[in-house]
Amino acid sequence: MGKHIETALIHGAIREGYADKKGAVNPPIYLSSTFHQESIDDFGEYDYARSGNPTRAALEKCIAELEGAQFGYAFASGIAAVTAPLMTLSQGDHIVITEDVYGGTYRLVTKLLPRYGITHTFVDCSDLAAVEAAIQPNTKVLFIETPSNPTLKITDIRGIVAIAKKHNLKTFLDNTFMTPLHQRTIEMGVDVVIHSATKFLSGHSDIIAGVIATNDPQLAEDIYFIQNSCGTALGVQDCYTLIQNIKTMGVRFEAETKSAQILAEFLHNHPKVEHVYYPGLPTHEGYDIHHSQSTSAGAVLSFRLKDYAAAKAFAEATEIPVFAVSLGGVESILSYPPKMSHAAMEPEARAQRGITDGLLRMSVGLENIDDLVADFAQALEKVDA
Ligand SMILES: *Cc1c(COP(=O)(O)O)cnc(C)c1O
Repeated sequence: MGKHIETALIHGAIREGYADKKGAVNPPIYLSSTFHQESIDDFGEYDYARSGNPTRAALEKCIAELEGAQFGYAFASGIAAVTAPLMTLSQGDHIVITEDVYGGTYRLVTKLLPRYGITHTFVDCSDLAAVEAAIQPNTKVLFIETPSNPTLKITDIRGIVAIAKKHNLKTFLDNTFMTPLHQRTIEMGVDVVIHSATKFLSGHSDIIAGVIATNDPQLAEDIYFIQNSCGTALGVQDCYTLIQNIKTMGVRFEAETKSAQILAEFLHNHPKVEHVYYPGLPTHEGYDIHHSQSTSAGAVLSFRLKDYAAAKAFAEATEIPVFAVSLGGVESILSYPPKMSHAAMEPEARAQRGITDGLLRMSVGLENIDDLVADFAQALEKVDA
């Protein structure tokens, strides 16, 4: 029987728990770095926990099931999950990557990969012709993120996959903002889907984690090889936390998205807000494409105030959201991309991507929406017109 993803969220990881026949509803936390072997010739399924651990295996199975993929992997952070598939490349290879990529991915691609001879071209991936024009004879991967961070720019996933297939390239997609619930990227032909599980998957601002899913057996083998060779797998207690938190992701995300829509409309109609970036507003660039490939507008929005002074006055006047990096928590998180998520980016690179000094990003949590709107209204009063 084909099950809905909400059901997989709850049950995806626990079968591993049943496997030991004790009937535990939650998978045991196997705090064991090594595993006893019964015979000198015949080793069991697990030998050393860097290479594999039953709790991590339960989570990885769950991730694969959620993404509708054969293979899933859990990493010590989202950026470790971004790094692993890129490490499958070799010296001399090239990637085409979306220009408004997550700040940490930008740092990895611009500062670290070039040392190993892996080069890149940044492209505005909402322009498919520009993507195709950036492909070189040594290009191996198209790396996209949609909606992007922090201006929620939309990339046509099917369009990118078609270009990749035509040129025999792989598509890697960072799906952190939409979750496997609302953007079925593997089904659209993406080769590797990546999440910072620190965000919506875990959802409580508690752990740092990353996950990957793929249907490509060769990529899966290579990614596992890198996870084991670099030792970047997720620790077992965090695996357990993530398994538990994934169960409520469906209801969390739905409620947060509903509130985000209301808050976005409030900001959109406010005279002191210059622009709102949110895929739930019909005025948002790429609105139609986004809704053709995703079943939600998500819970993250950005908005532009006049300048730095306005952003500062607003951020310091709000009372409900935490003012912090990160997103996807049950508590609303207000952040200032120029000094937070995108601090690793040079000022010129930020300006080119629309990350202006008045830009704020809001990840809407589970607080009462009337309270959030009232808080934003009073904070906007403190902003000079
Ligand atoms: C946070 C984030 C990352 C990095 O994840 P960490 O868990 O912080 O390492 C990657 N991509 C996106 C879109 C993110 O928001």
